[in-house]
Amino acid sequence: MGEDGHPGTPAADGPEATLEELRVRIDALNAEILALLQARAQVVVDIGRFKQGHGLDPYDPRREEEELHTVIDTMGGPFAPADVREIFRSIFRASLDLMDRRRRQALHVRRTDLVPAGGILVGDVAIGAGTPVLFAGPCSVETPEQMERIAAHLARYPGPKILRAGAYKPRTNPYAFQGLREEGLVILRDIARRFGLVTVTEVLDVSTLDVVAAHTDMLQVGARNMYNTELLKALGRIGKPVLLKRGFMATVEELLLSAEYILAHGNEAVVLCERGIRTFEPWTRNTLDVASVPLLKGETALPVIVDLSHALGRKDIMLPCGRAVLAAGADGLMVEVHDHPDQALSDGFQQLDLAGFDELVAGLGLDRPAPGR
Ligand code: PEP
Ligand code: MN
Repeated sequence: MGEDGHPGTPAADGPEATLEELRVRIDALNAEILALLQARAQVVVDIGRFKQGHGLDPYDPRREEEELHTVIDTMGGPFAPADVREIFRSIFRASLDLMDRRRRQALHVRRTDLVPAGGILVGDVAIGAGTPVLFAGPCSVETPEQMERIAAHLARYPGPKILRAGAYKPRTNPYAFQGLREEGLVILRDIARRFGLVTVTEVLDVSTLDVVAAHTDMLQVGARNMYNTELLKALGRIGKPVLLKRGFMATVEELLLSAEYILAHGNEAVVLCERGIRTFEPWTRNTLDVASVPLLKGETALPVIVDLSHALGRKDIMLPCGRAVLAAGADGLMVEVHDHPDQALSDGFQQLDLAGFDELVAGLGLDRPAPGR
């Protein structure tokens, strides 16, 4: 017992310390350990910066083993080697987490000044500037007449809009309609011009990038291509805005990293698109991940739109889902519209007819120009 009645340990030479004194010593040691850990973390950050500057891999497992050996070889005190190993492994893990966090924060997609105040411009259409943009049009370009009827209808919509239609189609079934390719691009461009509309269409690969870019105002990367890093890099070098769709098996972070490829290679005009992910739920074509909208918006200033047609694969619940994603902060919606969906060469079952399109936009309150516009 110490003088004050608390149990204590005898000091090497002198009277037994009190519990209070021992606790004061622990507090002081904690402060010293923390100061050392912070100093170590700073060196870790400096090493990370050095490695990045020299193109070296940030993680070096061999170096960790070396450090452990050095520490254990020279250790003394009550802890056993296994304990020390455990303690240092936690320190290494915390250091790696710190580096991960810093790397994530340093990504281009996280820059707050990424999008100009007026939004990302596709022609004169501003995305991410406050008014939801409607991306509408058929799944595929089929004929000039079909495109003309749909474009004429869309042109009457008063809000900001972009005519969508696929010319190069990434079909799951190789025997399904593959798109009119270059001929489709020309039809889309000519009809859009006639109605004063801007266009977005999908580019499937690097080999057709130049021809697609020559005919459209915005380039779409489809869900099946979100991981096509060579295409993403090539899009970085193209001076046109990109609509990047989320892969159906991709996490929100993977979508951001795909956008990072485009940004890091020189093109900052990227709009992200949630289009549903694959789950076990068969009542919708994909599962619309509404949560991805606020998650993405919390991580990046890049605009986020939602493709209701491919997410749902059905028309009857588009209105409530459209309301939900707009309430969640979406900067726009994509919907497939066809003048005769029952005769469409692709995705007929999910395309709205012209009256259905009007009903949807009216239901969403988008049929009136936004105040001040
Ligand atoms: C499309 O928008 O035409 C399309 C094929 O969509 P997704 O890539 O999302 O499947
Ligand atoms: Mn489609």
